[in-house]
Amino acid sequence: MRTYAYGFPRIGKKREYKKAIESFWKGEISEEDLKGRIKDIENERIETYQRYVDRFPVGEITFYDTMLDTALMVGLYKCKNLKEYYNLCRGENALELTKWFNTNYHYLVPEISPSFAPDNFKLTQTSSCNYQYVQTGRYNLQVAGKENNPFYFIGPFTFLKLSKGIGKFREYLLSLGDIYSDLVKDIKEVHIDEPAFTMDLPLEEVNYIKETYKKICTQNKNIYLFTYYDSVDFLKELYELPLKGIGLDFINGKENLDSLRKYGFPKDKTLIAGVVNGRNIWKTNIREKIEFIKELSNYSNNIIISNASPLYHLPISIKWEKLDEKLTKRISFAEERLEELKTIADIFNNKREITEEMTFVPFGKDIAVQNRIKNLEDKDFRRNIAYDERSKKQKEILSLPLFPTTTIGSFPQTKEVRSMRARYRKGIISSSEYKKFIRKEIKNLIKLQEDTGLDVFVHGEFERTDMVEFFAEKLDGIATTKNGWVLSYGTRIYRPPIIYGDISRRKPMTVEEISFAQSLTKKPVKGMLTGPVTITAWSYVREDIPLSNVAYQIAFCLQDEISDYESKGIKIVQIDEPAFREKAPIKKRNWDNYFKWAVNSFNLIVSKAKPSTQIHTHMCYSEFGEIIEYILKMEFDVITIEASRSKGDIVEYFEKANFKRQIGPGVWDIHSPEVPTVENMEEIIRRALKVFQKENLWINPDCGLKTRDWKETIPSLKNLVYLAKRLREK
Ligand code: GLN
Ligand code: ZN
Repeated sequence: MRTYAYGFPRIGKKREYKKAIESFWKGEISEEDLKGRIKDIENERIETYQRYVDRFPVGEITFYDTMLDTALMVGLYKCKNLKEYYNLCRGENALELTKWFNTNYHYLVPEISPSFAPDNFKLTQTSSCNYQYVQTGRYNLQVAGKENNPFYFIGPFTFLKLSKGIGKFREYLLSLGDIYSDLVKDIKEVHIDEPAFTMDLPLEEVNYIKETYKKICTQNKNIYLFTYYDSVDFLKELYELPLKGIGLDFINGKENLDSLRKYGFPKDKTLIAGVVNGRNIWKTNIREKIEFIKELSNYSNNIIISNASPLYHLPISIKWEKLDEKLTKRISFAEERLEELKTIADIFNNKREITEEMTFVPFGKDIAVQNRIKNLEDKDFRRNIAYDERSKKQKEILSLPLFPTTTIGSFPQTKEVRSMRARYRKGIISSSEYKKFIRKEIKNLIKLQEDTGLDVFVHGEFERTDMVEFFAEKLDGIATTKNGWVLSYGTRIYRPPIIYGDISRRKPMTVEEISFAQSLTKKPVKGMLTGPVTITAWSYVREDIPLSNVAYQIAFCLQDEISDYESKGIKIVQIDEPAFREKAPIKKRNWDNYFKWAVNSFNLIVSKAKPSTQIHTHMCYSEFGEIIEYILKMEFDVITIEASRSKGDIVEYFEKANFKRQIGPGVWDIHSPEVPTVENMEEIIRRALKVFQKENLWINPDCGLKTRDWKETIPSLKNLVYLAKRLREK
């Protein structure tokens, strides 16, 4: 039994990746220095692979994002040096960022303009910024001493499928097929990632894939093609291609096994069986895995075992983590996954026996929480009073003007805020000093909102690092890590919490800050919560109970939080669900199942809220077309969404769905440092007014202001309030 691994994290043990690139941005190190440092990181990755597995690809490293590298490689963009490269990654001319499949990694979206002819794609070998190509490109393979390792690429189909503006899909794909044919010609072995093969693909696209790959495969007989994140629906067609090996995800692509049972596996190909989890952290049950691989060997006698999806969704190693021992024993991060592969192979190769039984001491159980879940009935997923009636009560209590103005929650997290938090965590300042500081920030913000003339206030979220980690730290049954860093995009990192047990709320989590803010003003202050879908999406989640039940456990905690808000006189509560769309399964046929519990979890939170409590939800993306039916089932009163980049076109979806509740289409693109003009913002509201009654429109930014500076925040808010006044007068 041989082993193969790919996608090992590039972040570096001590986050060297982030530090190196950011130092370059600050002008502290030169381009040459940066290249040297990235090379060191790459060498360390390679050494780690070598310690455990037989094979792995070369050329996975990137200076920012491999989708962008692919775009450069095929000549969609040009850049002469790293400075130009980073202009494409960040700043004014940056490409858009979007979630990579249903993960929390974001890639840069290549955009193909309508005038771009299919034969404009050109294999670009010279760009010195494409490290992947230059450093380990076919001319440099010998230099790297890795000429026998498969060479890593993102496949043409995934590249194109995930790009924007792909009108002439077939023509583009075939043209890319030519480029890739040229590319693989002189390489010994090739690793191609095609995760997009797990999407629901129309038949014609499957045919294009066949056409394209037939071309590519005639140039190289040693192509290993990797699919992951879900199963492949057209496996049988894939078998027809002259590929050397096919990688299948047997963790998140359970149906792959059904296909194997049905169609077997071709004798002339290697099955690269993804058997250890690249997305979640629970230790592999070796005994079970051995049985599983034995079953696979009924279908193929040419199996290599590997990770089931890239390992960069995991932190590097559990070795540097100081978690509870009981918990540590159950966890494998990326390096431990490599070790598991080695263990499994050793057992197969009779080099060792299964020794340790996978029995864990159960912990994290909470009978009271479990009973609450057990006793759930359909009626618990509903608000008792219909929107029309609720909204009347809310109007009376809130007496807001037309076009009420508000913000989404966070305000600039200045250096001072971050450094105070860091000092508090290190024990340099006491908890009472820290609290005092937060109160001062809240007080200033309330005054600022009064002065600016906003209608519904927020407390600013100064006490929160991250909207998920903050709640994770307050809830029982969830652990947070010190070093479990994962790349979210570019050099941006986060630490996913670990949901290991039944979740309960020790005490109110946010009520103190919110009610303090409320005590300073007559204007309503919004209670601010992160929803269960987002908390589970951005965490590692236990797998011994259904995900829906994990979400319901969180929902109960938030339900209790709302009732505490109400007893303190809070009249509006916002529940953020930015991950609602992202968490949806890759295949649409699995959507009903997912959205059912996702919607239920939201409704469970609000089911006990007073009818007079106005419930907001916030989702910051604009692709609502496909999910609007599900959104309508959520029992909120007001929804705020991202609208500024699409100039408000997004309201169309709500129009089609005959949406009759209140909506705040974001008028200010908070991803940009630019101050939006009153006219820009008005355009969006005018567009919305064609569809919605003026009584139902709110005016707010696209998202929280955490990453903005005060210097653009204040004038932008002034413009926003001015717009509302002007609209009211008209
Ligand atoms: N309330 C959060 C904030 O303002 C919402 C963030 C988000 O939607 N991503 O920061
Ligand atoms: Zn948002």
